[in-house]
Amino acid sequence: MTAKLIDGKAVAKKVREQAAADVADMVAKGYAPPGLTTVLVGVDPASEVYVGMKQRMCKKLGIESSGYTLPADSSQEEVEALVQKLNDDPKVNGILVQLPLPGHLDDEAILKTISPEKDIDGFHPLNMGRLAQKGREPLFVPCTPDGCIYLLDDAGVELEGANAVVLGRSNIVGMPAALLLVKRNATVTICHSRTKNLPEICANADILIAAVGRVEMVKKDWVKPGAAVIDVGTHRIDDDTKEKGYYLTGDVAFDEVSEVAGYISPSPGGVGPMTIAMLMRNSVRAAQIAHGLIEV
Ligand code: NAP
Repeated sequence: MTAKLIDGKAVAKKVREQAAADVADMVAKGYAPPGLTTVLVGVDPASEVYVGMKQRMCKKLGIESSGYTLPADSSQEEVEALVQKLNDDPKVNGILVQLPLPGHLDDEAILKTISPEKDIDGFHPLNMGRLAQKGREPLFVPCTPDGCIYLLDDAGVELEGANAVVLGRSNIVGMPAALLLVKRNATVTICHSRTKNLPEICANADILIAAVGRVEMVKKDWVKPGAAVIDVGTHRIDDDTKEKGYYLTGDVAFDEVSEVAGYISPSPGGVGPMTIAMLMRNSVRAAQIAHGLIEV
């Protein structure tokens, strides 16, 4: 079997185009465009790159973006005071505190300070709690796992009743991905570093989401023939034979797994582009909530 490739770049483009259309519609009706504000604490090159990418994407889609960079030694009170100021600013619809924060800061307390209605990353305990509760809906869902589910839906993969295995239980990917699958009536197994018989458990999965952060750990014999495999892992591997001096890969051994899987979302080119597209969608949703255009 040769897996059907799930093209994250193409699907992300559709999500961004819809977000841009929603912004244009909002503006045509006389509302202000969505406003997203990023908060960066300290100078971390990777975080600066991510924040820059998010701001450029906002501009392309008609979303207003602004950003604050606080010194690395900012106190808990200073960061929380800035978030509070942004909560009170009606021009700011979405607040994004770039993680990881410097070690001396309590990130949970800072995320809790963000108004749930402006929590476009979906990490506020109220939104995460609603995600975990039957019959409740969060205002926002974390972007990377939301992107995984969107890719599965777009490919036409049936979630209801499927045996789904999520490799990884982090707050930002594994756990919310598992909760989203439960909401969609999949039967979910969550695996982590203490799980025994990992290959056997994975080999029972109709849907396998790999978010472990281990280079190409998922092999061909871990995958049930015909399964849908979503690779969240992102790794940069130094390689002098490549023009850039490195190549990117994921948590899944792509070449061999694509011989048995039914669907495969590669890394790079799968979940990565979806994450930022879902963030844009959440930013538009925040403005729709603020303007009373959708009921929540
Ligand atoms: P993380 O916080 O390090 O979590 C990794 C999870 O995998 C943990 O639950 C850990 O178990 C589990 N794990 C680690 N080694 C394992 C092993 N050998 N066997 C079984 N389970 C194991 O990572 P993360 O933030 O979720 O990210 C996961 C991957 O996704 C990384 O490669 C990251 O770069 C990538 N990522 C991509 C995007 C994107 O937009 N494409 C976004 C976020 C993350 P314990 O809980 O027991 O420690």
